[in-house]
Amino acid sequence: MLPCPARVTTHADLMFLEPSFRGQRSGWIEVICGSMFSGKTEELIRRLRRARYANQDVIVYKPKQDTRYSQNHVVSHDENDFNAEPVAHSSIILDVPAQVKVVGIDEAQFFDDQLTEHVQRLALRGMRVVVAGLDMDFMGKPFGPMADILSVAEYVTKLHAICPHCGNLATHSYRLVAEDDQFLLGDKGSYEPRCRVCYSMGNILDFRASKKSETS
Ligand SMILES: [Zn+2]
Repeated sequence: MLPCPARVTTHADLMFLEPSFRGQRSGWIEVICGSMFSGKTEELIRRLRRARYANQDVIVYKPKQDTRYSQNHVVSHDENDFNAEPVAHSSIILDVPAQVKVVGIDEAQFFDDQLTEHVQRLALRGMRVVVAGLDMDFMGKPFGPMADILSVAEYVTKLHAICPHCGNLATHSYRLVAEDDQFLLGDKGSYEPRCRVCYSMGNILDFRASKKSETS
């Protein structure tokens, strides 16, 4: 039996997290997902900057309620910013000007469920759509439209933070404050990234951490 022809990994594949575009017909969806503090927004900004350097028209949207740092910018936790348009409903992204080649969407988990349909329509128009967002909420459940968008995307990059308790890769966002609202916006102090095991230990770890600081 003949061996199955494998795709050869090139230097370009190793160098960049995003897909190789050679021979790719235009119009697709990329997703950058992961926990809090995994670098999703930084990776989104990096991809958009590269497109802009290549003189491609780029536009960025973010949900209107995400105004933690700035009304009109996508701002990562490192304050590495990019102009962004706050929108109240995902249907507004369908008004994107026809010359735009790359559409970025940050904090996609806070958009309504129709975002999945709308990003697919933009991809069919020939646009490259880069979607960044939390894949899971603080309860470890799929967050907003993210699960559906992950299903229909051509390319998925899952980023990880580092678990501050054990140093393993963190996939979960543990909420440090007593608040049940799924949509609580947060920064350091409200959330911490945790690996699966430390996440499952819940506030036992909070207790240990407070004991440690009392004795030190
Ligand atoms: Zn851990």
